[in-house]
Amino acid sequence: MTGTAEEFRELYGRVPEGVWAAPGRVNLIGEHTDYNDGFALPFALPQRTEVAAAPRTDGIIRLHSANTRAGVVTLDLAALDPAHPPQGADSWAAYPAGVFWALLDAELPVRGADLHVRSDVPTGAGLSSSAALEVATALALADLYGLPLTRPELAALARRAENAYVGVPCGVMDQMASACATEGHALHLDTRSLEQRHIPFDCEAAGLRLLVIDTRVKHALADGAYAQRLASCHRAAEALGVPALRDLPYEDLERALARLGDPVVRRRVRHVVTENERVLRTEELLRAGRLRETGPLLTEGHASLRDDYEVSCPELDLAVATADAAGAHGSRMTGGGFGGSALALIDAAAEPTVRRAVTDAFRRAGHTPPRITSASPSAGATRLA
Ligand code: ADP
Ligand code: MG
Repeated sequence: MTGTAEEFRELYGRVPEGVWAAPGRVNLIGEHTDYNDGFALPFALPQRTEVAAAPRTDGIIRLHSANTRAGVVTLDLAALDPAHPPQGADSWAAYPAGVFWALLDAELPVRGADLHVRSDVPTGAGLSSSAALEVATALALADLYGLPLTRPELAALARRAENAYVGVPCGVMDQMASACATEGHALHLDTRSLEQRHIPFDCEAAGLRLLVIDTRVKHALADGAYAQRLASCHRAAEALGVPALRDLPYEDLERALARLGDPVVRRRVRHVVTENERVLRTEELLRAGRLRETGPLLTEGHASLRDDYEVSCPELDLAVATADAAGAHGSRMTGGGFGGSALALIDAAAEPTVRRAVTDAFRRAGHTPPRITSASPSAGATRLA
């Protein structure tokens, strides 16, 4: 029995029917594009969230996480209401409860269940612990109740849980990455069609390493800034007469920008359109085996997020500038921004130098020490037991 299954048994006094896992993710490039129907290129982290689960017949759901101090949260399936998600210490339970709600709302035959969660994905670090929790829950319920859902459908339901039940207006990239990524690959994602391509991304063979630098600044996506960016993109698309900013061809960017009066909106649009282009160029380079050459695109992407989209923060900027100065091929903030993590593409041999440079720079600036790990593209959601 896995550790998570054993904990489930101790907690609930019964054996779980299975254990499911879904990973956190890092986005290589393609940031703030998903709610513009655009492209992204995430990969799955080795860190993941496990959910041990067993069905119940009485319409009750019981939720427990080894990662919180809240005890078991007990909810009545029939009474789940997005207007009243669990509050206070129990608020974490909104993520799995939201998945039950989204499945029911899609008229899928879900009944009660006991769930126990354990994760090594850091929370609030821009590595998508929320999507890992949602997708692991969704996969568990799909298996428990024999629901014939594809991975993209699971991801879409998980996103709906976060949007409509938890109340975070995120795009679908995180859930798609967690549900669909495969080991050794980045996932090229078309967030309009949910079409996916698995792009070989073997850093080790190329003598490269990906460093994930968690700035320890907790982002709060539910905060207004994210919703503001989203709203301003949607307004800009409307003003330009396109369904979404994804429909603006890169070649026509200057012409489109000239039609927008507000300089702030112009910068937001420029980020989205250039970022989509960077995703496509990065994919081409990966396919050609020219991994190092993706570095400058990462750093350009960071500058665009910092200056045009204005979602970076001093700690992220410092991590990126320091990693690049210490020899990274390129680096950028990853995830929604306003904190969270940066990603640096480095030669494997440069790891000690880059780690030291970033840690020293944070100390000198008086920031909380960053948490630096190296990541290799790992498997997406799976059943473990
Ligand atoms: P991120 O997805 O970048 O980690 P979010 O703010 O989107 O950050 O999601 C973090 C929230 O998700 C946590 O505050 C918590 O409520 C919930 N969460 C994620 N993983 C777990 C877990 N293993 N146990 C309990 N809650 C979790
Ligand atoms: Mg999240």
